[in-house]
Amino acid sequence: MGGLWKKIKKWKCFRSLSVRIFLLIMFSCAIPCVILHYGILERYMDNAINVRTTDVQTQVRIIADHLTTYNYLLDNSSEVVNAELSQLSNLYDGRVLIVNSSLRIIKDTYGISEGKTIISEEIIKCVNGGGASNRVRDNRYIEIVVPIEEKLDDSSSTLGVMLTSVSMESIISSYEYLKNRALLIEILVIVIMFGIAVLLSRYILRPFDKITDAINEVKNGFTDEEISVTEYLETERIGDAFNQMLGRMKVLDDSRQEFVSNVSHELKTPLASMKVLADSLLAQSDVPAEIYREFMGDITEEIDRENKIITDLLSLVKMTRTAADINIETVDINSLIELMMKRLGPIAARANVKLIYESRRQVNAEVDEVKLTLALSNLVENGIKYNTDGGWVKVVLDADHQFFTVEVSDSGIGIPQESIEHIYERFYRVDKSHSRQIGGTGLGLAITRSAILMHRGTITVESQEGKGTAFTVKIPLTYIAS
Ligand code: ADP
Repeated sequence: MGGLWKKIKKWKCFRSLSVRIFLLIMFSCAIPCVILHYGILERYMDNAINVRTTDVQTQVRIIADHLTTYNYLLDNSSEVVNAELSQLSNLYDGRVLIVNSSLRIIKDTYGISEGKTIISEEIIKCVNGGGASNRVRDNRYIEIVVPIEEKLDDSSSTLGVMLTSVSMESIISSYEYLKNRALLIEILVIVIMFGIAVLLSRYILRPFDKITDAINEVKNGFTDEEISVTEYLETERIGDAFNQMLGRMKVLDDSRQEFVSNVSHELKTPLASMKVLADSLLAQSDVPAEIYREFMGDITEEIDRENKIITDLLSLVKMTRTAADINIETVDINSLIELMMKRLGPIAARANVKLIYESRRQVNAEVDEVKLTLALSNLVENGIKYNTDGGWVKVVLDADHQFFTVEVSDSGIGIPQESIEHIYERFYRVDKSHSRQIGGTGLGLAITRSAILMHRGTITVESQEGKGTAFTVKIPLTYIAS
């Protein structure tokens, strides 16, 4: 049964809501039809037979009493009784047999079996004191067997049997008539309900068609108006969800466009510098070797810068790809940070900045080693870059039972309050010229944030201008796959 239901559900047409509504309406109209048919019509037949049997039985019992009174079994010439018998058989289009205790037929209203012996189970039972009985024969007659009894003081003895068979023709013809009428009505109801179901299933789903049309209009670019189909709460909700999605896509599209124009701009800046340097070299003849060397050194710097921007862009693209690219392993975070600090040591030494590492706990976590190292290095590198001579950068690792935290604080220049909300934006730099001078691309924190989000972690920042900045990264110890 379950398998059949699954198979039906796979049919394409059955997956259509309008087909389901149609079937539901048809099904709910079929139930009353079936109940009416079997509950009333079929009961009618049984009921009519019962009524007829009781009627006839009552009359037969009265006549059976008369038979005893008129001693009919010994002398069947009583006119009163004969008249009653023929009236009974005429009334019900039936036949009456009077049988004595030796199973001989005394009277047959058809007049063909008188004098003959009748052997039938019901009659023998009745003669032997089995009482009255009745049954339906060949679906055409009701046979009623009633004993002819002589009442004694406190008992009675069976003198014979009265066998009456009455025709069921009138019952059958009323039943047939009713059945035909019912069938006609049922067909009529089904045809009407079919029409109603078709119209209703279409009518109910019309707002959904409207929504599909509206979405298609937007998809095909004919309009970018908001969708509003308010006929049902459900369609209103679909419309709202679609509008929200559209809004989000517009924001994404805008940010993508902005990103592309920023990328082009950032890539063009070093190129423009290189061109200026090269042009000025070309414009002069007999350029002294020192100038030539100096210009070529500047050009090399610009090439390095261009290279760094491209490397950062590639890292960012990698970070913003789907989570499928993440390579999760259980990593010793203490060693990861130690190694990172060691690698950044020379840069810090060059800037005369002290690197301090404090581990409060041994931490093992499920992370992507490469991405996390990149994220944390950017923070420490920023701490070094935006610091003052003789300053420090401190990294503190701690953990609870669910998360580990890495705090990267510095004694540097700090970030102005109004810039804090922008620092994770791509290409955003608080002080463009200063950042450029120290080799910033404005992509570092965007990369860091993406990497941390990939680990389902969070990053927060607190900063005071002139005093320093503290970034806190919080990442689950166990990777949560979405
Ligand atoms: P950049 O490559 O320019 O360093 P980031 O995305 O790493 O780009 O940082 C964005 C901007 O945020 C930086 O240009 C800098 O102005 C500011 N910033 C980031 N980290 C610090 C910090 N530790 N101290 C002060 N300013 C910072």
